[in-house]
Amino acid sequence: MSNSEAAGVERYVQLGREYTAKRKEFREKVRKLRFDTIAVHGMYSVEEAFAQGQGGIIEPLFPSTSQAYRDSDEMEAALAYRIPTWCYSRIHNPTIFYLEETLSLLEAYGCAFDASALCTASGMAAIKQAVEPLLAQDEAQSGEINFVSSAQVYGGTFQLFNVRMKERGAKVRWVSQPWAMKEWEKMVDKQTRFLYTEMPSNPQQACSDLQSLAKLAKHFQIPLIVDSTIATPALLRPLQHGADIVVQSLTKTIGSGGASIGGAIIARHDLTSRHLDDAAKADYAVWLKLWPARDSGPCMSPYSAFFFLNDLRTLRIKVEWFSQNTEAVADFLAQHARVEAVDYLGLKNHKLHELASRYLRLVDSERPAFGHLLSFTIKGGAQEARRFFDNLQRIFRATDLGRIKSVATIPAISTHQQQGDEGRRLAGIPANMVRLCVGGEHPDDIIADLDQALNKI
Ligand SMILES: *Cc1c(COP(=O)(O)O)cnc(C)c1O
Repeated sequence: MSNSEAAGVERYVQLGREYTAKRKEFREKVRKLRFDTIAVHGMYSVEEAFAQGQGGIIEPLFPSTSQAYRDSDEMEAALAYRIPTWCYSRIHNPTIFYLEETLSLLEAYGCAFDASALCTASGMAAIKQAVEPLLAQDEAQSGEINFVSSAQVYGGTFQLFNVRMKERGAKVRWVSQPWAMKEWEKMVDKQTRFLYTEMPSNPQQACSDLQSLAKLAKHFQIPLIVDSTIATPALLRPLQHGADIVVQSLTKTIGSGGASIGGAIIARHDLTSRHLDDAAKADYAVWLKLWPARDSGPCMSPYSAFFFLNDLRTLRIKVEWFSQNTEAVADFLAQHARVEAVDYLGLKNHKLHELASRYLRLVDSERPAFGHLLSFTIKGGAQEARRFFDNLQRIFRATDLGRIKSVATIPAISTHQQQGDEGRRLAGIPANMVRLCVGGEHPDDIIADLDQALNKI
């Protein structure tokens, strides 16, 4: 490279540094704002609106596949990742940038340290991308690589861990009661790469004592990963309790409007891992974006990011509203003669009510709230559950959750069909279980629909 070329590249690098420093300073300011303000504005300021050209009051949608460069120097600096760039939408995109900034700000809300996010095409893509680099083969290490996970996880996660990761030579060790620390302690050893839990789990609403789990992970110098799709950062911010990585299916509560599929990995800076190198540990989400995710391509669509940003603005108020409605519905179901049992963390007689109350609290208030997910079993068996289900008139029958519209499913024939009887037994999914996610309708109307369907069994 001649001197004049180097000078050109260096000029861009210098400009890039100034831009990054300014953005960092602004992020520090945004970090001091309250949760709702961050959800509404994220990193998109008045100044940014004019810098983007037209002064639009919401984050612009950038469908362009790629970014043009002013000259060869800027291109060289960009492709060496020496300047902030989005380059090509498989790697990065300006609309997705705004979503990633907002999500990482919300998950790190109230933490002394900061975090970054990587958005993906789906929740499953986020989970796969989060765990894969942690399971890389290591020639210095002999013996089978393992990871320890709660067995009470989303059906897709169960399959990913049980089937796909096994194909890659990594063995999952299931913890059947994720609230029991003794089970976790028994499973971990020197070959364990990470701990994984879902809180609350879908559909069983299992909970873990995150602080104790984080301590165990720290002791073994491995990361703790938490799927908190059901809780969202409005109810639970696992990073605050010592988790290293959070995964979210944005498809669900965060994208409550139901218009797109997406996921996110939110990782704290300087996470704990014996297996990752220093660059990966320093900023795991950004490292994933620039290297492994670039090479495998699970990128989010900017159109989806645009929808998610819009839904995210009202997250806290929606979670509060859904939680209140769900409580009313749970109280009704608990007293119905055709219902065998109701599982809702908000019910005082739930075995995990106390543990859940410690962790699930509506952000910026001390009030426990328990979200939109409940399940219940119908007296009789699978046939009775199906008869009830088929008679629902207002509530949609769909394998979906976290919606503004109430939806119900029978997990044994839908989300948990493929894992078989044995897998369902391990995960605690009986054939007469119905999962119900209560949305934003008036609870009296949802109760009326449930009542008529139950009485027709
Ligand atoms: C739906 C779901 C996922 C998977 O997300 P997709 O966006 O459907 O890929 C992961 N975890 C939980 C808890 C879920 O409910």
